[in-house]
Amino acid sequence: MPDTHHCPTCGAPLPIRNRFVKVVTCDFCGGVSLYDGARLDPTGRSVDLVKIPSPLYLDATGSIGSRAFRVLGRAIYEYDGGFWTEWFIEIDGAGRAWLIEDEGQFSALQLRDVSAPLFEGVRPGDTIKVGDLDVQVDEIGEATVVGAEGQLGVEILPGETIRYIDGSAGGTEISIEYTEAGIEVFSGKPIQRSAIVIDDETY
Ligand SMILES: [Zn+2]
Repeated sequence: MPDTHHCPTCGAPLPIRNRFVKVVTCDFCGGVSLYDGARLDPTGRSVDLVKIPSPLYLDATGSIGSRAFRVLGRAIYEYDGGFWTEWFIEIDGAGRAWLIEDEGQFSALQLRDVSAPLFEGVRPGDTIKVGDLDVQVDEIGEATVVGAEGQLGVEILPGETIRYIDGSAGGTEISIEYTEAGIEVFSGKPIQRSAIVIDDETY
């Protein structure tokens, strides 16, 4: 049975794409709803999509290395240095992941169930403990979600400002996002653009 829901704002069908989805945007009216695993709760917010050129797009399929993926949604963040995009993707055999795209550079990150320090008091250059990793802090900042489409696996809403800490431990990239919903830790690796193969668009 497909998981059939309808947009609480306009009534359009909104099938939930996977069990990790937390935020759903409506393709028809732009309404944004929270999803708690059972029902859609309208937030009263709606989305714009800031158009940033990218080889990826909503519903794109392809492969990263030897693994197939599908794009479920994206959120666009604006910060002091410009914009970055977080693509929420489903990877065969590995569940959910995020492809971070920043000026043509990609990283594939996954959500980790580990502890991280509070935002306050951390400075660039510090070494902080994230789970069992010693993470060198590279960047600290604030970013605002300025656009979204599709379905997202983190509870962030258009217009919301988050704080973040980016760092690394050896070859592992760490990104900690501090949102109204809590602290989320992502880790993963940079991905060469050439390792991302995108299928031709089909209609
Ligand atoms: Zn709608």
